[in-house]
Amino acid sequence: MRIGQGYDVHKLVEGRKLILGGIEIPSKKGLLGHSDADVLIHAIMDAMLGALALGDIGKHFPDTDPKFKGISSITLLKHVNELILSYGWKISNLDSTVVLQAPKIAPYIEKVQTNLAENLKLKNDCVSVKATTNEKLGFSGREEGAQAFAVVLLKQTKVN
Ligand code: MG
Repeated sequence: MRIGQGYDVHKLVEGRKLILGGIEIPSKKGLLGHSDADVLIHAIMDAMLGALALGDIGKHFPDTDPKFKGISSITLLKHVNELILSYGWKISNLDSTVVLQAPKIAPYIEKVQTNLAENLKLKNDCVSVKATTNEKLGFSGREEGAQAFAVVLLKQTKVN
């Protein structure tokens, strides 16, 4: 087995959509970034790549490359999953936490979980998504940004 961890942060600004785990969540502010700035998927992809020491998403999808501008992070997630599978590994389970002061995302968590599981071809009970506020502390608490943390466990599907 292999384990990987990922972390990401994006700035919250007006005039952008808030997309988490590929689901658009009604919000006054959204996340700023070159892609759709899906902070949760970015942390998950970094954990997947980290488990196989394949670098990070900045290496695979550079934000200087115009072809990734505005791209759905779900597309990138599927690409990373195919890469993992091509190396003979698959996700055993993943666990993640989104740190966001507002809006409350609890009503959307199940939808996010199901969407991630479907796109990773996993059962829902292999994909955990949790959320917390930052108790109004720091940049997350001031609603200036959102953070996400993820850990992923991979299991080998074939012996090389
Ligand atoms: Mg990011």
